[in-house]
Amino acid sequence: MFRRTKIVATLGPACDRNDHLEKMVKAGVNVLRVNFSHGTSEEHIKRVKQVRELSKKFNIPLGILADLQGPKIRIECFENGSVHLTEGERFILDADYPSDKGNTERVSIAYKALMHDLKMGDTLLLDDGRIALWVEKIENSEIICRVVIGGILSDRKGINLQGGGLSAPALTEKDKTDIVTAAGFNADYIAVSFVKNAGDIHEARQLFEKAGGSGAVVAKIERSEALDNIDEIIDATDIIMVARGDLGVEIGDAALPPAQKRLISQAIHKNKAVITATQMMESMIENPIPTRAEVFDVANAVIDGTDAVMLSAETATGKFPDKTIAAMDRICREVEKRPQVKQSNHRIDSRFQRVDEAIALGGMYIANHLNVRAIVSLTHSGSTPIWMSRISSGIPIFALTPNQDTYTKLTPYRGVQPIMFTLPERSQYGEVNRMIIELLKEKNIVSNGDLVILAKGDYQNIEDGTNALKIVEVGD
Ligand code: PGA
Ligand code: MN
Repeated sequence: MFRRTKIVATLGPACDRNDHLEKMVKAGVNVLRVNFSHGTSEEHIKRVKQVRELSKKFNIPLGILADLQGPKIRIECFENGSVHLTEGERFILDADYPSDKGNTERVSIAYKALMHDLKMGDTLLLDDGRIALWVEKIENSEIICRVVIGGILSDRKGINLQGGGLSAPALTEKDKTDIVTAAGFNADYIAVSFVKNAGDIHEARQLFEKAGGSGAVVAKIERSEALDNIDEIIDATDIIMVARGDLGVEIGDAALPPAQKRLISQAIHKNKAVITATQMMESMIENPIPTRAEVFDVANAVIDGTDAVMLSAETATGKFPDKTIAAMDRICREVEKRPQVKQSNHRIDSRFQRVDEAIALGGMYIANHLNVRAIVSLTHSGSTPIWMSRISSGIPIFALTPNQDTYTKLTPYRGVQPIMFTLPERSQYGEVNRMIIELLKEKNIVSNGDLVILAKGDYQNIEDGTNALKIVEVGD
């Protein structure tokens, strides 16, 4: 009935056409990504407003993830928009060259310090690895290269260094401005691109909080240095993103599948969430159905334990944004029926630090071992349902919260269904249970005879107060 795996979709011009955004919401999107690499802040603000309106109109929680561009290193522009590079020919990246005069011999680069990070024999990968250049010599402003893989190269394509090692800091001046914009539209998450270490996450969080942001942080894992520092990054962040586009260029495509599996289990082990991103439904930019390989990719990410699967150009600029969501939805639902994805040994041997944490995990243990219809957590901050969602299960976790920020912040977490719910003041203990069951009955989630697990505190609406677990049978 409820899909556990969440769908993140990128906003873009395609969403503005043909009521696509509304259709995407109806098809089941959970989180909308604002991509600060493209478009103006006015466009972003306008789309976020539309998302919030649709969330109200359909009474569906929708999260907003504001994705910062980061220090993506790019070439500048060509005189004619693009050139064809031939294998074996010389091609120069020239920091002092006019930015709009690129040709088959040379092109300018936006990151002027690039040459300081390079040495002879390095391989530069352009346009997600479609073009490869071998660094022959570095002379003043010129990086003199030999074309190893040729093809069409067009304006402002990205540059990666194979193996990693570029020194650009994770937060650019543009990112700092965009953080203020994101705080202005109350983003649920800011995603930090090209993270190298925990310091990058702390800095972004501080800037976001200083700008008035109340959301949390996503660390995009797309540099090989991030893999070296993965423990401290996961500790510092709320969610990681397996950013397979840039990561695949840095570590090589064949290293991606094991990296994805490792990252997902490392994040869950540390009680954090994971978004699996990039090219999941790439062919649906142009086609109304996915390839078989894409169907398997999404299903495998669900089996790996990802919280969410993400769409980029498929919904931002593609021809079939809502059909792409619908395809992901049906693939996730089908694979979630497998008994293997409902079982868990998560933290079976670990000691818990806190009472609310113990209640959360104890509740899930019961849910997975008793015939229960639903789990309900009355939550202010969202921490109890987040702990619960780290346990694989087939039982939906309903997060009842009076807090609008928590309602949308919980959207990326696997298995969690946020519902706005405010208790009347001074409600009696038994009264509360009755109201919750009424709500679930109204929504056709439970019926008479079903067992429901309730996790809550003695004092309602107080943060982190969950200390009680109750199993109730639904009656008339
Ligand atoms: P991007 O990040 O789409 O912002 O580049 C995701 C990725 O690199 O995979
Ligand atoms: Mn990226």
